[in-house]
Amino acid sequence: MLPLFPERIVWIFSKKYISGQTINDALTESRKLNQNKIKVSVDLLGEYIKNLSDADHYKEQYIDLIKRFTAEKIDGHFSVKPSMFGLLLDKEACYRNIYDIVKVADECNSFIRIDMEDSECTSDEIAIFRRLKSDFPARVGLVVQAYMRRTSDDIKNLLDLNLPEAPLSFRLCKGIYIEKEAIAYQGYQEIRDHYIDDLRFMLQKGIYVGIATHDQYLIEKAYEIIEELNVPKDKYEFQMLFGVAPNLRQSIVDRGHRMRVYVPYGKQWFGYSTRRLKENPNMVWHILKAMVVKQ
Ligand SMILES: Cc1cc2nc3c(=O)[nH]c(=O)nc-3n(C[C@H](O)[C@H](O)[C@H](O)COP(=O)(O)OP(=O)(O)OC[C@H]3O[C@@H](n4cnc5c(N)ncnc54)[C@H](O)[C@@H]3O)c2cc1C
Repeated sequence: MLPLFPERIVWIFSKKYISGQTINDALTESRKLNQNKIKVSVDLLGEYIKNLSDADHYKEQYIDLIKRFTAEKIDGHFSVKPSMFGLLLDKEACYRNIYDIVKVADECNSFIRIDMEDSECTSDEIAIFRRLKSDFPARVGLVVQAYMRRTSDDIKNLLDLNLPEAPLSFRLCKGIYIEKEAIAYQGYQEIRDHYIDDLRFMLQKGIYVGIATHDQYLIEKAYEIIEELNVPKDKYEFQMLFGVAPNLRQSIVDRGHRMRVYVPYGKQWFGYSTRRLKENPNMVWHILKAMVVKQ
C-alpha cells in the first residue's frame, strides 16, 4: 500500500529513519552520535539512476561530503550504493565514479563501504570491490547478505584479498531486497543460522566484521562467538540503522563494543525509507493511524 500513499504522509513516519535532507542535517546527527561514543557511516540517498549524467552530480556530492566530514573531524566513514553511480547502465563508468570517491577518501584517511543491493547487482558489486581493494587495500569494504545462497562461497572466493596489513572488511547483514527462493534463503531462522555461520567463519579468518543487525538473538550469538574465539574488540564492530532500536544499541555500547550507525540523508528518501517501513513490526499501526487522520 505504501506507494499509494501521498509522499507527505509517508514522510511523517519515514523521517525517523533519515537524518535529514541536507549535509548539515547529517552532520548534526553524526555529531550527536559521536558524542555518545558511536561512529557513523554516512549515506547519500539515491539509487538505480536512469541517466549516467546523474552519477556525476552524486559523485560531486560525495566528494563534498567526505571533505566536509573530514574537516569537521567526524568519527565515521561513508557508504555508497553502486546503482547510484550507474552500475546497471555502464559498469566501467560506475567503477570509475566510485574510484574517484575512494581516491578522495584515501587522501582524507577515510574509508568507503560498498553497500550490497539486489541480486542483479551482486556479481558486479563484488567485481568492483575486488578492483578497488587492489587499488586501495585499506580504504574499501563490502556488504555481504546472509540470506543469499551464494554468500558463503563469495566470502571464500575473496579470501585472497585478506591481507595481514589490510584485512578484508565486511558488513554482514541479513539482506533486505525481495529475492526468489532459488537465490536467497527465505526462512527467518534459516537466515539467522546462515548469518551465524558466516560470522563465525569471518571472525575465524581475521576478517574485520561489521555485525549489522537489530536482532537480539543474533547479537547474543555474536557475543558468544566473540568470547569463544577471543576476538579483540578492535577486530569487529556492531552496526545499526539510524532510527532503529536505540535502546538495544545503547546496551551494546554500554558493554564496551564498538558501534557504528548508518546515517542516511538526502532528498531521495522514498525508496530507502519504504524498505525500512516494511521492516518495522509496528507499521500496520502507523498505516491505520495515517488512514484515520486522513479521513
Ligand atoms: C548498518 C546496516 C547496513 C545495512 N546495509 C544493507 C545493505 O547494504 N544491503 C542490504 O540488503 N541490507 C542492508 N541492511 C539491512 C539488513 O539486511 C536487514 O534488512 C535489516 O537490518 C533488518 O534485519 P535485522 O537483522 O535487524 O533483523 P529483523 O528480524 O528484521 O529485525 C530484528 C528486530 O529489529 C527491530 N527492527 C528491525 N527493523 C526495524 C525497523 N525498520 N523499524 C523498527 N524496528 C525495526 C524489530 O524489533 C525487529 O523485530 C543493513 C542493515 C544495517 C543495520
